[in-house]
Amino acid sequence: MELGLRGKTALVAAASSGLGFAVALRLAAEGARVAICARSEKRITEAAERIQGETGSHVLPVVADLSRREDVARFVETARRELGPVSILVTNTGGPPSGPPLSFSDDDWEAAFGLIFYSALRLIRAVLPDMEAQKWGRVVSITSISVKQPIDTLVLSNATRSALTALVKTLSTVYASRRITFNTVAPGPISTGRMEQLIQHAISREGLSPQEALSQWISDIPMRRLGKPEELADLVAFLCSERAGFITGTTVPVDGGAVRGLF
Ligand code: NAD
Repeated sequence: MELGLRGKTALVAAASSGLGFAVALRLAAEGARVAICARSEKRITEAAERIQGETGSHVLPVVADLSRREDVARFVETARRELGPVSILVTNTGGPPSGPPLSFSDDDWEAAFGLIFYSALRLIRAVLPDMEAQKWGRVVSITSISVKQPIDTLVLSNATRSALTALVKTLSTVYASRRITFNTVAPGPISTGRMEQLIQHAISREGLSPQEALSQWISDIPMRRLGKPEELADLVAFLCSERAGFITGTTVPVDGGAVRGLF
């Protein structure tokens, strides 16, 4: 299926590893010109070189901490200057800490909203003028199944990503007639560094063996396995494509059937 992404400028946030990296690789493989960001210069440069080597597409690495307003602005400005007007934005960040729901301080809450909600809001605000001028745009936000089925140990994720989902849904309606779509993808447990970290926490906090800690995550998944980053990236690439022009304002889980709700 031709996705129509060739030559389009795409921004993928938090893409030196994990889901962001897989999405950037997939978009680049479809011929998009991709800008990626993360905090470590070494890791984001290596990621860009790897994607460029595997796909032959131009990939621009930008060092940026998404929890800092000025870094978000610089990420977008650099990408626009080097690659041209932005047509596609994939918002993503590192995940917030896990713990008992009332164990977090006000500072923890502010940091989580800064990292997850405000980073996406600021990215969206910054790229929308380009999309409006082109009368075409795609915004996809990577959230979590926690927006459909809250996870007891991840209240910071449950709350901040739900706020982001509400923002995206609101914008989807307002911008629908301008051919700019907004969707979210909601990963269940997918095999990345973040997942390893959560499993490691369960081992150290609850004294579980690695197998027991993994079972805790997959026992509720009907497919009884973790997802692969490429399985999420394929969906994101489709939602970013010409083919997905009539899909907006929706949240698509990529979770092996883990969410039990009807919608
Ligand atoms: P990951 O930890 O493997 O990768 C996170 C990426 O974000 C890395 O490139 C890291 O460098 C970058 N990053 C972290 N903090 C940043 C910051 N402040 N500024 C810029 N870059 C930053 O995580 P992942 O598994 O790829 O997950 C991506 C997002 O999806 C996270 O928010 C995670 O909580 C969420 N999520 C993941 C899963 C899963 O199972 N993997 C499930 C649900 C939700």
